[in-house]
Order: sequence, then structure tokens, then C-alpha cells
Amino acid sequence: MAESVLPVLMYHGLHAGESGSGCFDSIYSVTPESFAAQLDWLRANGYRSVRLDDMGAGEGKRVVISFDDGDVSNATVALPALRERGMVAEFFVTSDFIGQRGMLTAHDVRALADAGMGIQSHGRSHRLLEDLDDEALYAELRDSKARLESASGMPVVAVAFPGGCGGGRERDVALGLGYRHVLGSVPGCNRGRRPHECYQRIAITRAMALPEFSGLVAWRGWRPRLASLRFRALRVPKQLLGNDRYQRLRARLLAR
Ligand SMILES: [Zn+2]
Repeated sequence: MAESVLPVLMYHGLHAGESGSGCFDSIYSVTPESFAAQLDWLRANGYRSVRLDDMGAGEGKRVVISFDDGDVSNATVALPALRERGMVAEFFVTSDFIGQRGMLTAHDVRALADAGMGIQSHGRSHRLLEDLDDEALYAELRDSKARLESASGMPVVAVAFPGGCGGGRERDVALGLGYRHVLGSVPGCNRGRRPHECYQRIAITRAMALPEFSGLVAWRGWRPRLASLRFRALRVPKQLLGNDRYQRLRARLLAR
């Protein structure tokens, strides 16, 4: 039997440009055209999109499509593109962002869930969980789960750590609260992953052309090595500056 791999793709917003609704990010905003081309590539290459709870079912190549933060384009752009192709995704929503400008409304969250998409937690406030004391960490994971379950009418079984920051303490609190899956943002294809270990994810960026996308999904060749190197290089300023100062520096750089 082939060793199992599971690419988990990490998207944010889908935006043609800076104008329009949604929160544009020059790195992470993927154009609707690129997103459609990526879904078509997945289908043409035999990948079946699955929800995190359905991974055991069926044969063949599988992929998890995930979205972080809860940008309004998750409902206006991603949902129709997925439905058209009979595909599914997991939407990791920061519960305090619901109803804010450019973000999903409670009605959008319900519409995504009613369409068979997963509504999962990306924290309550998007504060980095590693920086919180035990009580605040617990509250972030408990309150976001409750709010999202009430908005979606479905159980929330997965959490993606804001900023990808979380380790054993964060995972154990999440599992204790009834989450079954925890996701980070270390690049990888989850080869030989152990149960309850943090899922690795592949960040999809605006500048990514289809050959790079396909190389990362298949996790073959030099592209995965480059992605891992880039990730480790970015970790250095993060560790030197601390999470909070790193996020502010990144925001300042991105604002230019
Ligand atoms: Zn986020």
C-alpha cells in the first residue's frame, strides 16, 4: 500500500484587485481566475476534495481545500466555484470577524454550511494562541466554537491556529474541548502523520502560477523544498521579534 499523503491547501480571500468587497492582501489574495484554474487542475488530475471528517472514505487521491479568516469572498466567489464543480471546502472563520466590513455575515456562514461546506474555528479574535495564558486560550477556543456552531447549525470539529502558531498546549486544550482536527501552517503533505498531530498545509499565494501549484499539491520535485526553506527563513525574524512584533512588522511591510 502506498504511504498516505494528504495535501491541505490554505487559501484566504479571492480578489481580482484591491477595489471591491473583501480584505485584499497583496500576498494571500488569489484571483478568482487562478482559483478556478486550480480547481480545474485538481479535478483533471484525479483529486477528490474531502472534508476533514470524511478522510477515511473512498479510494484515490484526496485534497482538503481550506480558507482562513472568513473573508466575504468565501461566500461570493469560492462557494459558487466549488459548487459548480461538485467540490467541498473547510472554512476556518474568526468568530469576532463575522459581520465586520469585508467579512462573512452570519447569513453567509449559514449558507456555506447549508451547501455542505465545513465551518470551523480560526479563533475568536485572531490573537495568536501561543501568546495567551491558559484561561484566554481556553476562552478563544470555547467561545469561537460555540458562536460558529450557533451560526452554522453544525458541529465545529476543527481549528486552524491563527498565524499558524500553536503547539502541544494549544492542541491539548482544543482536543479537550471536542475539536478533532488541529491545523497549523508548516508546509508539507502530511506524509506519515500521526493521529491528533497538527496538519501541515500548503499556502496558496497570489503570485503562484499553475506549475508551482501543481508541484506543491503533488509534493514532488524542488518546489516543496523551496517552500520549506522559505518558511524556515521567515521563522527566524518571527523568533527574534516575538509573534506580536513580527505580525506588526509584516502588516507594515504589506501596507506599502
Ligand atoms: Zn488568519
